[in-house]
Amino acid sequence: MAKPEVFDVCVIGTGAGGGVMIDQLTAAGMRVVALERGPRLSLTDFDDDELRNVIRDQVFSRDQLETVRTEPGAPAQQGRISQIAHCVGGSITHWAAWSWRFRPDEFRVLSVDGPVAGASLADWPYGYDDLERFYERAERDFGVAGVGDANPFAGPRKNGFPNPPHPTRRSAELFARGAKKLGYTPFPVPMAINSQPYGGRPACMYGGACRSYGCPIHAKGTPFSVSIPRAEATGKLDLRAEARVFELPVGEDGRLLGARYFDRDGNTHEVRARQVVVAAGSIGSPHLLLLSTSSRFPDGLANGSGQVGRHFTFHHHPSCVALFDEDVRGYTGFESHAAIDDLHASDPKRGFIRGGVVAELNTFTHQPLAYGTLVADALPGPRWGAALKQKLRGFPRTVVLAGICEELPMPDNRVDLDPEVKDRFGLPVPRMTKRQHPNDLAMYRWYEKKLVEVAEAAGASEVHSGRLHGVHIDENTHQPSNAHNHGTCRMGDDPKGSVVDAWCRSHEVPNLWVVDGSVLPTNGGYNPTLTILANAYRVADHFIAEAKRQSL
Ligand SMILES: Cc1cc2nc3c(=O)[nH]c(=O)nc-3n(C[C@H](O)[C@H](O)[C@H](O)COP(=O)(O)OP(=O)(O)OC[C@H]3O[C@@H](n4cnc5c(N)ncnc54)[C@H](O)[C@@H]3O)c2cc1C
Ligand code: SF4
Repeated sequence: MAKPEVFDVCVIGTGAGGGVMIDQLTAAGMRVVALERGPRLSLTDFDDDELRNVIRDQVFSRDQLETVRTEPGAPAQQGRISQIAHCVGGSITHWAAWSWRFRPDEFRVLSVDGPVAGASLADWPYGYDDLERFYERAERDFGVAGVGDANPFAGPRKNGFPNPPHPTRRSAELFARGAKKLGYTPFPVPMAINSQPYGGRPACMYGGACRSYGCPIHAKGTPFSVSIPRAEATGKLDLRAEARVFELPVGEDGRLLGARYFDRDGNTHEVRARQVVVAAGSIGSPHLLLLSTSSRFPDGLANGSGQVGRHFTFHHHPSCVALFDEDVRGYTGFESHAAIDDLHASDPKRGFIRGGVVAELNTFTHQPLAYGTLVADALPGPRWGAALKQKLRGFPRTVVLAGICEELPMPDNRVDLDPEVKDRFGLPVPRMTKRQHPNDLAMYRWYEKKLVEVAEAAGASEVHSGRLHGVHIDENTHQPSNAHNHGTCRMGDDPKGSVVDAWCRSHEVPNLWVVDGSVLPTNGGYNPTLTILANAYRVADHFIAEAKRQSL
């Protein structure tokens, strides 16, 4: 019988982190096997069917079960909870494409703000300057459109964006008007969406349904549209979809042998590889490491420190719903066209530390079901009959203003294995324990007031805050899930306080790497994915250099 192939690298997960690793390692000539639990979608899966995509989640993730609770001992809710997608290309396939660089101080939160009770603040093991050229590479590959120097509060950049900014829409003009009246500096949100034909992909059609939808024409930069096609063209990639990895077996020398996975029908397979890159996302990666127990690693792989799964963070989103007397056209364009960053800098005098960026968005105002179920529900008055019809008539006149606000990490906010609930393969499902730190609540309340001021200055005839279901937080209401997930396999220099080192290589298992959102020690006050992509380019460069020196 022929011996099974031993791949140079096995990459688990094909999203933001995994997609970049697959692309860069195959380009360097390595033979890569990529295992992805979700199916391979095609452009025809990406239509504007709101019922199928958003309400029923059928494109997002057809096979997802997990539990969530607010603290140890509290009852857990069960279902498809987290806002992640399982498919070739990962969650980022359906992203809205806001593409920020974190600010320099966001890599040094502990040094800048000092320790905070109940929080596990940390500095990153490297700084903004180390990531600048990788940010630039990610912006170039994914075709980010924007104006280089338009945000006066951003970190220094050597070059502008590869694409010019997009045309604006009416809601963005009104937001900018209000922001300017208050002395703020509005600017176009940098978006990984083509504003002109670029990278062999066409320009955006401004169809409105962009967040939660894959792009039907590849105008949106994603691993699905950029990295994976490029890697497949090298002939070095063996990509296996619907391959659900459940164990990373360890050899007698303490190195990983490869990965074991279930195919769609539940049959077990094993691949062999010299290096293993786990890029299964901030819930999938700790889940897989914790499932991989052995006599050498009884508490899960790379978990001698007990850090796997801890410091789980989202963002929180102070928001308000603003109605104007005119049509604001939220049903055109993409999720957000304008932002301000004037409120972002950390200032303990406000009663909290850290902050976030603030923007106009069409998240719930671009399609009728989202509007009817969320926005109309957030407006005062009865939810039925003539009053409901009157609310629904506000659809073309409504815009949401919201912040992308940094959450403080806490050690007990975590992902672990549910002791009771099993999935269809009989594996314990991920259990999330997640509550807000008091700093989040203080920040949320402060930003909410500021957003109302901007909406009023913009000329809104009605402004409502504090009522968006699933977004609103207070002492008794904690977000059960978020599209932004980070922090569960923290990177750091100290093996006692982190899971991977500065190069995202395990402190304990020499041929194990974790390269996705889970390694972010803190989460910044911006959408996180450009940082996840840039970090992956940085790790890939190091990985390739180490391979050349034969020191992997
Ligand atoms: C609707 C939506 C809109 C968003 N918009 C933005 C935005 O505008 N800007 C921004 O910065 N971010 C945005 N995000 C967040 C962004 O998508 C994530 O930050 C990013 O995808 C995280 O990258 P990752 O590599 O950590 O994980 P993912 O991209 O989620 O990739 C993980 C992959 O691993 C696979 N996997 C998991 N477990 C296993 C297993 N056991 N075996 C095999 N494969 C496995 C998953 O199926 C998935 O494909 C959005 C997210 C959503 C859902
Ligand atoms: S709005 Fe643009 S980027 Fe978004 S799905 Fe439509 S064409 Fe693609």
